[in-house]
Amino acid sequence: MTKYVYTFGGKTAEGNASMKNELGGKGANLAEMCLLKLPVPAGLTITTECCTDYYKNNCKLPKGLMDEVHAGIKKMEKIMGMKYGDPENPLLVSCRSGARKSMPGMMDTVLNIGLCSKTIPGLIKKTGGNERFVYDSYRRLIMMYADVVMEKAEGIEPADGQGIRKQLDDMLDAYKEKKGYKSDTDLTADDLKKLAESFKARIKKVLRTEFPDDAEAQLEGGIKAVFKSWNGKKAVSYRRIEGIPDDWGTAVNVQTMVFGNMGDTSATGVAFTRNPATGDNQFYGEWLINAQGEDVVAGIRTPNPLNDETKNEQNKHMPSMQKLMPETYKELCEVRRILEDNYHDMLDIEFTIQDGKLYMLQCRVGKRTGVAALTMALDMLKEGRIDEKEVVMRLSPEQLDELLHPILDSTDEKKHTVIAKGLPAGPGGAVGRIALTSEKAKEYRSAKIANVLVREETNPEDVEGMRAADGILTARGGMTSHAALVARGWGKCCIVGCDAVKIDFDKKIVHIGDKMFKEGDVISLNGAKGWVYAEPVGMINATENPLFKKFMKLVDKYRKMGVRTNADNPEDAQNAINFGAEGIGLFRIEHMFYGKNSEKPLAKLRNMILTDNTKDRKAALKELEPYIRKAAKGTLKVLDGKPLTFRLMDPPLHEFVPKLEEKDKIKALAKERGMSTKELVKRIAALHEVNPMMGLRGVRLGVVYPEITETQFRALFQATAELMKEGFDPHLEIMVPLTINVKELEHQKAIADRVKAEIEKKFGVKINYMYGTMIEIPRATLVADQIASVAQFFSFGTNDLTQMTFGFSRDDVNAIVKDYIEEKIIPADPFNTLDQEGVGQLVKLGVERGRSQRANLKCGVCGEHGGDPASVRFFYKTGLNYVSCSPFRVPVARLAAAQAAIEEERAK
Ligand code: PEP
Ligand code: MG
Repeated sequence: MTKYVYTFGGKTAEGNASMKNELGGKGANLAEMCLLKLPVPAGLTITTECCTDYYKNNCKLPKGLMDEVHAGIKKMEKIMGMKYGDPENPLLVSCRSGARKSMPGMMDTVLNIGLCSKTIPGLIKKTGGNERFVYDSYRRLIMMYADVVMEKAEGIEPADGQGIRKQLDDMLDAYKEKKGYKSDTDLTADDLKKLAESFKARIKKVLRTEFPDDAEAQLEGGIKAVFKSWNGKKAVSYRRIEGIPDDWGTAVNVQTMVFGNMGDTSATGVAFTRNPATGDNQFYGEWLINAQGEDVVAGIRTPNPLNDETKNEQNKHMPSMQKLMPETYKELCEVRRILEDNYHDMLDIEFTIQDGKLYMLQCRVGKRTGVAALTMALDMLKEGRIDEKEVVMRLSPEQLDELLHPILDSTDEKKHTVIAKGLPAGPGGAVGRIALTSEKAKEYRSAKIANVLVREETNPEDVEGMRAADGILTARGGMTSHAALVARGWGKCCIVGCDAVKIDFDKKIVHIGDKMFKEGDVISLNGAKGWVYAEPVGMINATENPLFKKFMKLVDKYRKMGVRTNADNPEDAQNAINFGAEGIGLFRIEHMFYGKNSEKPLAKLRNMILTDNTKDRKAALKELEPYIRKAAKGTLKVLDGKPLTFRLMDPPLHEFVPKLEEKDKIKALAKERGMSTKELVKRIAALHEVNPMMGLRGVRLGVVYPEITETQFRALFQATAELMKEGFDPHLEIMVPLTINVKELEHQKAIADRVKAEIEKKFGVKINYMYGTMIEIPRATLVADQIASVAQFFSFGTNDLTQMTFGFSRDDVNAIVKDYIEEKIIPADPFNTLDQEGVGQLVKLGVERGRSQRANLKCGVCGEHGGDPASVRFFYKTGLNYVSCSPFRVPVARLAAAQAAIEEERAK
């Protein structure tokens, strides 16, 4: 029979930290903490497999599960000296989710399970008559249970603001107001008792079922609800963003309750063994006296600082745990040491102090900003906790990318006034329009408008809006609130607990300090400091960090695959070299006809395109040649000694003339060229193709009009010869696009050879260059061996290869792809991350067949996938020599390549 339940407690456990897949992160780590002899309340973990079986089984618990659970509870009872459902000495439990990968706040939890009319008197007696505590726990159980088990798990979707939790919260607020209470702690036992009764009545009225007054029913309901929350809306959205598979399932942890709300000698808290925002080696956390865990993470009360060292703007006047409970604080510091010694990493922990006794409720490897990840990894190397390879593995490519992202320019910042301060929860800077709802943030994002999501509090339901925002600002919440964790995990600029923020949703306005803003007004955030500005502040890049340089040196030490860049002008090339590019893998010559300074060469190109005879075309090309030469020479000069792969002109020519419907543009162009509009229209019409992406483009242009390639060869060889004469070291590689067979390559090579000989003679130099091709049409991968008889290198153009393999137009398919992903027909956008099982196999085949002809065939990739970490890993495994990507992705590709090499070695 499948074992679904693993127990832990009493300084021993059936599981351990390596069993994350089976027990989820939380369960595996609870077991590990027991093995480390840390004080953990006894409990049991129901496996993730059970969750999968539950779904396979039409949302029914597998047979025999509850028997296993009861056997586990027996063990817990023995360790804890209490009995579940017992009227005299009742044991209460929590039911918490725990997936393989942490999904903070995305699934549901129920606390205080087992409290009912049968057990309440016993618990009061046991706690020395602490009625207030017992009824506080009871009203919490009712609130959570109604929300999670009776509403969400039942699939009830109330109208906005009508959910049962909101209704009960409103009742609580109204009661406090009537009584003139400021805080929850002002509520007396009697108040809580009354509230519990009215809560139950409201639940019955709204949900049409009774709140279960039975410990057994509560337990089963709690377990099922946690399984159900795996498929809750926010969990599904989060999984999609994080790429967590839907079929992993969540484990359920049923654990003995310990209480942080038993009075002033009790407390609860969350801490990080190092500062998760900066990476500093300081114990960082937040705690609340007389509270339960949800109070800290939900951001309802402002938590106290853990110690004096890490006080911040918001809690600097509040007493720390170090001061109020020095003995327990010391004990917690020892826990911190034991955990870091065992895990060799920064951990995020949850603890509760029940009447002066410390209990550990959770530990997991903590989410951190990119800057913190970098600082910690290098510190831990120094401390001898991890080796160099592990340092390289510690930063995800996304975190590295985050380091490359802009921060507010401190010089410009000084010119502006800080209008409010909050907690620096997520890194970097953000300047954008205020969005007051997730919907608005998403709307801005689709219109490519930078935005800052401004919210009252940190709510995991907002996950998609948070993702869509450039920055997040909330009025409430602490550094360990869910929004802060999620934002930090994504490296998103985030400020929480900024109490100067007051939102008026009805009027769609927000006051920040004494300033008023409308939705859509622009503000700026400094996420590292927690500062808010009323105007747009300038941004700069953050790469000059010496730690970044040190880290990248280690990355390159273990990297085996080359990294080049896609660039076509000296500035981008220099930028990419600064980012560590080892050459240019794709120089798209047609980019000289767009944007800045393109007017003159574009006019020449148009002359060439719009002629109707070879003689005029040749004359126009002659005038164009110096511009191409200049463009190539400028970038070759910057690359001095590093290879530059120049791709022959690729796009269909009609892209460079106005469309037929652009009448004004046609008129202006006709005037400029001194020809009649009618004649111009005729020539433009002659360029029309039904499927231009599959038409006269790429090498076909050079075959149909050999003078076009001849001009480019001449420009390239002359630029090379001139640079050689000037003492530079140009490494030219010429690449033919859109090849379908070897004949095309031979055809173009004959021209290249002839022109090269002419230039060599004229300049008296010997030019070395490589001649190769893009592989971007499926056919080319099939006949790659023949192609490799002429091509000295292949560069896989995975943009076109994806387009042609799927038959998806890369320019129009977005909407379809979105639906396909939604319907789970394809797992991801194949233009972002390589389709390994389809397109990837063609790449593999191309490499194998090519190298069967030419063993030392150099193979690279220059499609957008060259900067996508998952694709880079695949390319490494496929044996490519290099990837080429846009300048900003170069460090990311270097890291992904190094990690792929280390992973391969570790797998051996
Ligand atoms: C490609 O097709 O992958 C490629 C790099 O070329 P382009 O994007 O210019 O078509
Ligand atoms: Mg292409």
